[in-house]
Amino acid sequence: PQKPGATRTTAEWQQTDSAHYLHPFTDSAALARKGARIITRADDIYIWDSEGQKILDAMSGLWCVNVGYGRQELIEAATRQLQTLPFYNSFFNTATPPAIELAELLAEITPPQFQHVFFGGSGSESNDTVVRLVRRYWDLQGQPERKVIISRKNAYHGSTMAGASLGGMSEMHQQGGLPIPDIVHIEQPFWFALGRDERSERLSREEFGRRAASWLEDKIQEIGPGRVAAFIGEPVQGAGGVIVPPSTYWPEIQRICDRHGILLVSDEVITGFGRTGQWFGCETMGTKPDLMTFAKGVTSGYIPLGGVMVGERVAKALANGGEFAHGYTYSGHPVACAVAVANIRLIQREGLVERVREDTGPYLAQRYAELAGHSLVGEAQTCGLMGALQLVRDKTSGAPFPAELAVGMMCRAHCFREGLIMRAVGDRMIIAPPLSMTRAQMDEMLALIRRCLDLTL
Ligand code: PLP
Repeated sequence: PQKPGATRTTAEWQQTDSAHYLHPFTDSAALARKGARIITRADDIYIWDSEGQKILDAMSGLWCVNVGYGRQELIEAATRQLQTLPFYNSFFNTATPPAIELAELLAEITPPQFQHVFFGGSGSESNDTVVRLVRRYWDLQGQPERKVIISRKNAYHGSTMAGASLGGMSEMHQQGGLPIPDIVHIEQPFWFALGRDERSERLSREEFGRRAASWLEDKIQEIGPGRVAAFIGEPVQGAGGVIVPPSTYWPEIQRICDRHGILLVSDEVITGFGRTGQWFGCETMGTKPDLMTFAKGVTSGYIPLGGVMVGERVAKALANGGEFAHGYTYSGHPVACAVAVANIRLIQREGLVERVREDTGPYLAQRYAELAGHSLVGEAQTCGLMGALQLVRDKTSGAPFPAELAVGMMCRAHCFREGLIMRAVGDRMIIAPPLSMTRAQMDEMLALIRRCLDLTL
């Protein structure tokens, strides 16, 4: 009998795939040689490929399927809305009930400074919107010379021209002449890689956190405080390798932004909707951002949606500023908003944020502390349900493997064969499993991770 979704054989899918489909962030020639793995269905925390292999998805798709796969409430919300009103826009003085309902719900669950939301279709669009909003704000304040947005190396803020410019991925900057003007980058708060002093001795994490924040102050002084518009950061850098910053970092960043009147932007595309054990990562890190972008977890990835929470300070300026000449056809798409409302209600009903904060998050931290003893692991970090294992050649000194060995990719290949999706960022192995994951499923995931580390040795 045919497997679900298997209307063609795997070889046929692969052949057609490489003939016609340009994949994101993929070397097409390499993919054509190997053939894509064809994912045909999913349930709970598992996905299945076209050969019928079951795989534990420890990345929640791309950091998004927070409530797990196969949730009927979300499917029904989409179906109902598709039948009632599949599309209408919110340009030109119109709105739809699901978009209004979602705006109200977001105002309720986000920190109190956020009473307004601007919708887009993705994280990238949301961060593009931030660039427009920040510059609009300073124009309205009569300070148009405040244009510079400071971000961090190795940050990921999306793939559009502004998103990739805000991001600090050098490969992306090399393709297409990025960044666009007036976006600059400072070093990331990556203690394991950068936390040494002039004598190459390890700083304490706390000391390093303050030092990493001081790089923002240095950059502001270099540019001139009167030219700096905003600072943007992910509370925990995700695609850069789940870099959990020292506890001293964000409070100091907040102080620096306050001192210079600079807008603070929190990119919560990954850290939003419970990932870190609070509804939003800024709450975990103790900051009070002026703008906050979200996407992914807002719908658990069932349908595309993103947006920007606009804090009181910017909202007030916009309210008296006339038309903000910006928007997307799918801003506030009614089907996406209906799914988001159902998704947030489900997170609330099942207490998933509390579960991460009080149960599964601490449990993952404890189990990762055990994994830190593995001979390949130089550092193990978690924050809520995000985790990173830094693979090293020498555990004592923390010396890395030679890059050409591609040990991270080796480990990832073992995971793939053993039925586990884990991502490799260089030699840093990262996870972000569904927030619905139980302790028993976590044990299953951790046994697989340990087996794959052993196989990589
Ligand atoms: N911001 C962060 C922190 C992300 O991790 C991502 C995607 O991974 C984005 C923005 C871009 O989101 P999208 O891929 O929905 O455009």
